[in-house]
Amino acid sequence: MEWYSRECRALPWRESRDSYRVWISEAMLQQTRVETVLSYWPRFVERFPTLEDLSEAEEDEVLALWSGLGYYNRARKLREAAIEIVRQHGGEFPRTREEALALAGVGPYTAGAVLSIAYDLPEALVDGNVQRVFSRLFGIDEVAGSTRMNRLLWSLAGELVPRSGGAGTWNQAVMELGATVCVPRSPRCGECPVRRGCVAHREGRTGELPRMPEKREPTLVQLSIFVAEREGAVLLEQRPVGGRMAGLWQFPTIEVSDLPIEQPGELFPRLLPRAGESPVLSPGGPLGALRHSITRYSIRAEVHSAELVGEVPSGWRWFDRGQLEDLALTGMARKVLRVSE
Ligand code: SF4
Repeated sequence: MEWYSRECRALPWRESRDSYRVWISEAMLQQTRVETVLSYWPRFVERFPTLEDLSEAEEDEVLALWSGLGYYNRARKLREAAIEIVRQHGGEFPRTREEALALAGVGPYTAGAVLSIAYDLPEALVDGNVQRVFSRLFGIDEVAGSTRMNRLLWSLAGELVPRSGGAGTWNQAVMELGATVCVPRSPRCGECPVRRGCVAHREGRTGELPRMPEKREPTLVQLSIFVAEREGAVLLEQRPVGGRMAGLWQFPTIEVSDLPIEQPGELFPRLLPRAGESPVLSPGGPLGALRHSITRYSIRAEVHSAELVGEVPSGWRWFDRGQLEDLALTGMARKVLRVSE
């Protein structure tokens, strides 16, 4: 904890212990790099300065501010949970683990983080950084992410978290050590405040621990994306309700892959008519190509110009290019914009 108070990075969400601000930062930081969150968190809390503001927001606006961060369910659930908190907890993030876990999108990590950091309650947490530090420090030779590993880590974290003040600092210190010193490749053991007690350092096993599960190959997806433009406006389609990235806007897209796809159409259902049906777009010349990753999918896409044939289909709309900044676009649509400008 002394090391943390000397060495911690100055991050904007660390300036206040306001439970709402802590909660938003923790929700964003899951699955997302600190560098990315640095550009999203300030905009989000500026637009929605209080939990009440978020609870009154339209879902579209929340999604627009989240556009590009990925895992959009996090944004939907944040808003849902904010509504619940206003309704049931007087507008303040609850103070017990049980109540926190009952909120939409709040799992054991987020509950532990908010309760310990904002309220200094002796609540544990485990994330990827904690896993790496503990696995090396205590020489835990279990597969990362396995049930056994998780059980061990949560029980250790629960034993170690200080009971008489400083729980939030402790949790952040362990995570910070994992993020800045005990990094995945080539940990900087020479600068580490706990090296004297560290099993992996003593036994020269820092490269082996934590033991990683075998990696799954990414699923390749090949797409054609169409940019129809008319008087400075572009034609977008809204992704269907219930699927991935539901409700977000994208350029009309089809899968053209003849690569082995496990579940064809899962990521990009064929939104354009199939052969034999009347065409909506007539493809023009190529504008460029892009690559994109969504969870375990590795996407390659060719971007073409196109012209609308007939009526605008339902779920599609023209948007002026100037409107797109504030629209809930998919991350890939933002790349298409850059390719097609
Ligand atoms: S001594 Fe090295 S391996 Fe051990 S906790 Fe510190 S940085 Fe990690």
